[in-house]
Amino acid sequence: MIKIALAGNPNSGKTTLYNLITGRQERIGNWSGITVEKKEAKLKDKYKKDAIVIDLPGVYSLSSFTSEESIAINFVKEQQIDVLINVIDSNNLSRSLYLSSQLLELGIPMIIALNKSDLAKYRIKFDLDKLSKLLNCPVVIISSANDKGVKELIKKTIQRSEQKEQINLFEDLNDSSEGELQDKIRYDKINQIVSSVETRKDNKQVSISDKIDYYLTNPFIGLTVFFFIMWGIFELSINWLSEIIANILGGIMSFFSVTTFFQDAISDLLTKFGVSEFFINLINHGIIGGAAAVLGFIPLIMSLMFCLSLLEDCGFMARIAFILDPLFKKIGLNGKSIVSLAMGYGCSVPGIMATRTIKSERQKRMTVLLTPFIPCGAKVPIIVLFTVAFFPDQGWMFPLVYLMSFLLIIVLGLFIKNIVGAENIENYFIIELPEYKYPSFSIASSVAMDNCKSFIKKAGTIIVIASMIVFLLSSFDFKLNLITDNIDESILATIALPISFLLIPLGFGVWQLAAAAITGFVAKEEVIGTIAVLYAVGGLVNENFEVLNSDLLRDTLGITKVAALAFMFFNLFTPPCFAAIGAMRSELKSKKWLAFGILLQFCVGYLFALIVYQVGTLIVNGKPDPTFIIAIIILVTAVLISIRMTNKNKEMEMKL
Ligand code: GDP
Repeated sequence: MIKIALAGNPNSGKTTLYNLITGRQERIGNWSGITVEKKEAKLKDKYKKDAIVIDLPGVYSLSSFTSEESIAINFVKEQQIDVLINVIDSNNLSRSLYLSSQLLELGIPMIIALNKSDLAKYRIKFDLDKLSKLLNCPVVIISSANDKGVKELIKKTIQRSEQKEQINLFEDLNDSSEGELQDKIRYDKINQIVSSVETRKDNKQVSISDKIDYYLTNPFIGLTVFFFIMWGIFELSINWLSEIIANILGGIMSFFSVTTFFQDAISDLLTKFGVSEFFINLINHGIIGGAAAVLGFIPLIMSLMFCLSLLEDCGFMARIAFILDPLFKKIGLNGKSIVSLAMGYGCSVPGIMATRTIKSERQKRMTVLLTPFIPCGAKVPIIVLFTVAFFPDQGWMFPLVYLMSFLLIIVLGLFIKNIVGAENIENYFIIELPEYKYPSFSIASSVAMDNCKSFIKKAGTIIVIASMIVFLLSSFDFKLNLITDNIDESILATIALPISFLLIPLGFGVWQLAAAAITGFVAKEEVIGTIAVLYAVGGLVNENFEVLNSDLLRDTLGITKVAALAFMFFNLFTPPCFAAIGAMRSELKSKKWLAFGILLQFCVGYLFALIVYQVGTLIVNGKPDPTFIIAIIILVTAVLISIRMTNKNKEMEMKL
């Protein structure tokens, strides 16, 4: 069994190659630093060689400057690697050879894979033999995205692993020379090599991509385009794609969505067996109702995630990151925070875990605190249900929610920076603007499938249990008498009622919605599950995946449009699920900061909903809500407290 390690710059296409030769499906991203931990798997059988392939984190050099670099160096040094494949983006040869020169010094047999040849072939010509001779290392040109040259690469890699020596070409860089001098010699040599093996043609194709970027990286244009694309994605998903996915999923989906039919059938059957009405209701409303309400959103979630993945893969999201980067730097965030935030739209947990690569403790903490404010996949059903039920035909509500969350993150960032103080650390993070390319439908499909799987898993476990508890708590009073008609006397109502008083200035001070919000802290999907159980509305979406009975839903919930919007934002910004809080705890490593984070989320969710409801009501009704004075008092208090916190910090800094 031989060990093959893949090493290269971020974004050189290592993961694409790794997936191709091992049959794995690791996440490929346009984000530098997405591969943080090393991954390993067996080489596919078709290459007829027992081998383990290891995908190392993408790095620019072998200094231990970032944690990816430390992982890569330690691994390469400690493990007995038989052969290294240095993956190089052939469009960036001169930048990539810096790492290659360091890898060659390790003395491990190496082979160079000049990747992305499909992009380079129109404008760059390589003298491969010469390059191979100059580096004393075989060079194979490949395109891992199109599976070109990969077979030959692996064949030569296996041959290479059998030769044990690797001559060091940069031998004049002896240990005694100074770091800077070493670098200069290294760069001179690299430049010499590149100019002798590479001929660049001027090509119009490059300038088209650059021309698009000239406009798209302008913040105003970029964000406007983003807004309209998100709107388009939403309309497309709601009106067309989710139906197709639903049809593909076929029977399974109609099974869940035609809940009422299904529930009736179960009732009939169980009644025949003499099962008591309470148990029939428990099964129908407690177990099936909650889970079915959540599962009904699967096709929508899948189509949204499919489209967002295409958007990321074609290179568009990297432009948005580029636009937001200077803003984020201003509030003291690390450029790498963008990776976390960008991952957060799928799920905050991996986003929070990705902060491990941020070295500065303060920047890391800030990123952990802010990532949960990005609406994750589990919050999508809430957004969809409330925008579609209360604002039908207003698809722009969806992108607006995302833009609001960006805005909120920047405002909160400024606030936190004021409290904890700024830190001036140079960021060495480089955002690359990858070439625009046709997005991969198979990657997008696998992202959609992953989301579907995790949704089903969650619905079958946490959601079923939580919905059952909600049903039981709403079926008994504190004396454990079964409630037959007045649900307002139930245990759940008694617990949720005092909390619902606090929600009156937010426009949704009914105990049912308070209970839904509370259960949302366990898992955000359960907000929908609880509503379904408590109002016994059955499925919330029909078999065509339109939201069922918007009117009914509006009447049942009995709240105004503005209040519905406030309820939605409340659930988006208050603490995320248990899993995310767990991830926050393990990354923050401090009870004090975890408590601060959770408190911040509560306050932000509450205040945001308060402002939305009060301002919205003022605009819609032309006169303030009866709770206006209370709202003003709450807001003024919040502002005073935050000013005090900021001043306290300034005093402390003065003393220091
Ligand atoms: P890593 O960071 O080195 O693991 O790189 P990834 O495998 O995540 O690839 C980065 C980006 O380059 C992704 O958008 C890939 O789809 C793209 N990519 C990878 N290989 C090729 C290739 O051969 N040709 C083209 N055009 N794009 C590629």
